[in-house]
Amino acid sequence: MSLSILCRYTCSVVQRYAQLSSPLVHRRCLVSSISLYKNHNPGWGSKKHTGKRKIQLQSLLLSMDPEVEKQLAPLRARCKEQGDIVRKLKTDGAPEVDVKREVQELKSRKKELEDMTLKLSPPDSFDRAKMNDLIKRRFFYDNSFAIYGGITGQYDFGPMGCDLVDNMLAEWHKHFVIQERMLKVNCSILTPETVLKASGHVDKFADYMVKDVKSGECFRLDHLIKQHFEKKMADKKTSQEEKEIIKRKINLLEGMTMEEMDGVVKEYDMKSPLTGNDLSDAVEFNLMFPICIGPTGTLKGFLRPETAQGIFVNFKRLLEYNQGKLPFACAQVGNAYRNEISPRSGLLRVREFTMAEIEHFCDPDDKSHNKFSQVAGVEVTLYSACAQMDGESAKRTTIGEAVRGLGLPSLGLLSTPMEVGALDFFLSDRSYILGHLPTQADVTVREALNQSPPPHFTHASRWYRHVESFGHNERLNFPGERRSLEQLTGGRQKGLVANETLGYFMARIQQYLLKIGVNPKKLRFRQHLSNEMAHYACDCWDAECLTSYGWIECVGCADRSAYDLTQHTKGSSVKMCVERLLKEPQMVDSVVAVTDKGAIGKAFKKDAKAVQEALASLSSEESEKMDKALSENGEYELNGYKLSRAMVPSFKKEQKKVHVEEVVPSVIEPSFGVGRVFYALLEHSFRVREDDDKRTFFSLPPVVAPIKVSVLPLSSKQDFVPFTDKLADALTELNLPVRVDDSTGSIGRRYARTDEIAIPFGVTVDFDTVNNTPHTVTLRERDSTEQVRMPIDEVPLTVKKLADGKILWKEVTDKWPKFVAQETTK
Ligand code: AMP
Repeated sequence: MSLSILCRYTCSVVQRYAQLSSPLVHRRCLVSSISLYKNHNPGWGSKKHTGKRKIQLQSLLLSMDPEVEKQLAPLRARCKEQGDIVRKLKTDGAPEVDVKREVQELKSRKKELEDMTLKLSPPDSFDRAKMNDLIKRRFFYDNSFAIYGGITGQYDFGPMGCDLVDNMLAEWHKHFVIQERMLKVNCSILTPETVLKASGHVDKFADYMVKDVKSGECFRLDHLIKQHFEKKMADKKTSQEEKEIIKRKINLLEGMTMEEMDGVVKEYDMKSPLTGNDLSDAVEFNLMFPICIGPTGTLKGFLRPETAQGIFVNFKRLLEYNQGKLPFACAQVGNAYRNEISPRSGLLRVREFTMAEIEHFCDPDDKSHNKFSQVAGVEVTLYSACAQMDGESAKRTTIGEAVRGLGLPSLGLLSTPMEVGALDFFLSDRSYILGHLPTQADVTVREALNQSPPPHFTHASRWYRHVESFGHNERLNFPGERRSLEQLTGGRQKGLVANETLGYFMARIQQYLLKIGVNPKKLRFRQHLSNEMAHYACDCWDAECLTSYGWIECVGCADRSAYDLTQHTKGSSVKMCVERLLKEPQMVDSVVAVTDKGAIGKAFKKDAKAVQEALASLSSEESEKMDKALSENGEYELNGYKLSRAMVPSFKKEQKKVHVEEVVPSVIEPSFGVGRVFYALLEHSFRVREDDDKRTFFSLPPVVAPIKVSVLPLSSKQDFVPFTDKLADALTELNLPVRVDDSTGSIGRRYARTDEIAIPFGVTVDFDTVNNTPHTVTLRERDSTEQVRMPIDEVPLTVKKLADGKILWKEVTDKWPKFVAQETTK
C-alpha cells in the first residue's frame, strides 16, 4: 500500500487545553472520581440494615440503541454547545475565572448526560446487599474494632480478604516490578513536615468542611449539601420548578469554590443533619494526620498521604543505583493515610488504605518507550476530555492510535524514536505488501528518515529496505505526485494520549486489571478535564471501574512532568537531576573560584581535598552567590565548611567546554488504590446461581483466588482418610493453598461453601475412589460446575497448571470423561 493513502487517514487534531491550576488540586480530582449512584446505601459494614432493594447496576454500552440515542441526543448537543464555548474562551486567552465558570457549567451538563446514560442503559441486576452479606459472613473484610461499634473509614481484612489482596499484589509485582525490571523501595510512613511542605501537601491537600456549632460534629461541605438536596428532592412538598433548580445545583457542586458552597449553605439555611444546630462557616481541612516524631514534640510530621514521596526523596540514590541512567522506574507498595472528613461507600473512601505506586523517571524531551510497539495494538476504552466536552461517549481504540494519532506525527525529519515508531505502527496497521511499487509519497517519507530505522521497528525497517532496493533513477520515476511531508500528513497529527510512556502504562494497567478479573466492559480510561488536572501535570488518565456506586477511579495514571523532583530540589537544596550527554560539546561562560591552596590546607588539613573538590564543582550561579556572600559577610559555608575571603580571594570568568547538560527528569506515575481495585473486583466477580438465588459466589480468576482447590471426602469413614490426606499433601507440595472440608454436610452444600470463598476447583473423593483401581476422583470447576473423572495421581499437576493459567478448563474436559452429578444443597 502506498504511503500516499496515509494522508487520507487524518484525525482531528486534539486540542490540548491550557491548564488551570486549582487551589485544592489533589483533592478535587478525587471528588470527581466517584459519581455516586442514587440508590447507594453507605451503610454496609455498619450495623445499619442494608435493605433488600436490588441495585440496578448499569453496564457500559458503547453503542446505544437508536431509541436511547434519540433521548440522549439533546443532552449530547448541550454538552457540545458548552464544550465549544470553553474551547473558544481558551483559544481567545480569556481570563481564567471566565474559563473556570464555563468549565463548571460544562461539567454540570456532562453529569446530566452521564446520569441519563446510566438510567437508560439496560440494567444488569446486582444485589449489593447480597454481596455484602457474603463478604461479611465469610470474613473478606469488616469494620475495624467492630465489637466496640466499629469505626467508619477503617476496615480489617479477614483470611479471604488478606489472601486476595496478597495475590493481587503478587501479580502486580510480577506484572510491573519483574516484567518491567523496576526498582523497589519501602520507605517510612512517618514523614517530616518539611518533606510534605515541599511536595505541596501541607498547603494544598485539603477538603472543605463545616462544623455543628454546638456539638462540634464535622461534615464535608459537598456531601452535606448533596445530602440536604437529596432530601429536598424526595420531599413531596418541593415543587417541580424548585427540583429543577436543585438538580442543577447538585450538578454544579463539584466545581464550586468554598465561598460558593458556603453561599449555598446559607441560601438554603442548611443545619446540622444530626442535631438541627447551626453550622459554622466553611473552612479548609487538611487531610493529613499530624504526628509528633519523638518525645520532645518538636519534630512535626504527618502520616504519609501517598507512597510516592518516599520514592522522590530517594531519587538520587536510585539514580546512582541505576548507574546514572534514564529511564528507570521505582515501585512502592504500602499504606497511606488520609483523614477523610466523611468516609463513605465502604472501601472506596477510607482513612487508611494500601497504595501501589510506580514512579517512572524519563528524559523530559524523550518520552518514547522502547516496548511501546508491544502494546500498540491493545484496545482500550477512552473517555477523552474532548469527548466529555462534546457530550460523546467513550470510544474504543488501540493505544497505538491513541498515542500516535492516525497519521505521521512529524513535519520535519522523522528522527525521534517516537516518530519512527509512528511510521512503524502505521505500516504495521495497513498490511503493507512487499510486492507493491512505491510511489512518490514513499520517496518523501524515505527522505524524511535520514537513516534506516532501528531493526526493532520491524515494519518500518522492512519498508525502508524495500524502497532502498530501487535505484535512484527508478525512484525518480515512481508514480504519483511529489509532495512535502506536511502535505502528506495534513499537518501535525497528535494522538489523544500525551506520550508513549503514558500510553504504555495505560495499556499495562489494563492488562493487569483484566488479568486479575476486572470486567473489560466495566473499565474505561477517563482523561482529566483541564480544571481537574494538577497544574503541573501534562496529561492524566484515570482507570475507572463501573460499580454500583458509579464509575470509580481505581488507578490514576499521570504525567507529572518535573514537578516533584523540582519541588524537592527547592525544599532540600539537593539537586535532583541527571546529566545528559550533549550531541555536540558546547563552550559556555562560567565563573570559577580562584583558591589559595595553602590557606585551605592549613584550615582544613585532611579535609582540604574535599573542600577543593567542592569549590571546583560549583555552578556559575553558586560561585556568584559565594562571591557576593564573601564580600558582604567575609565568610561562606560550603558543605559544612566555613570558608573565608583569604581562602577564596577571587573568582574569574572563563569559557568551559561542556559535554553534558543537567536536566530534571519527568515522572510518569501509575498509582493504584488497592482497596478500590479489590472492591471493584469483588463486584465484577459476584454471581448468583441461576437455579438457586441463595447460592452466591465470587467468580475470581484462579490466579488471585485465595484458595485454589478444595478436597471433599464424601464420607467420614476411616478408609477415605489416606486418600484425602495424600491428595491434600501433594497439592500443598506444589504450593497450592488447599482447603479440606470433611464436614458432614451434603456434597452440594459443601460445594456451595467453597464457591462462596471463590475456590475455583474442587476434588471429591468418593466410594469409587476408595473401592476401585485405578483410584479416580472427580474434579469440578466452580463457574460452570462441570465435573470430570480422572485418576487421583493426575490431579495435583492438572490443578497446578489450571491455577497458574497454563491450561484452560476446556483442555481438561476434552481430555477426561465428564462426570454428571446433581448438585443439591439439601
Ligand atoms: P490520588 O493520589 O488521590 O490520585 O489517589 C491515588 C489512588 O488512591 C486513587 O486512584 C484511588 O484508587 C486511591 N484512593 C485515594 N483516596 C482514597 C481513599 N480515601 N480511600 C480509598 N482509596 C483511595
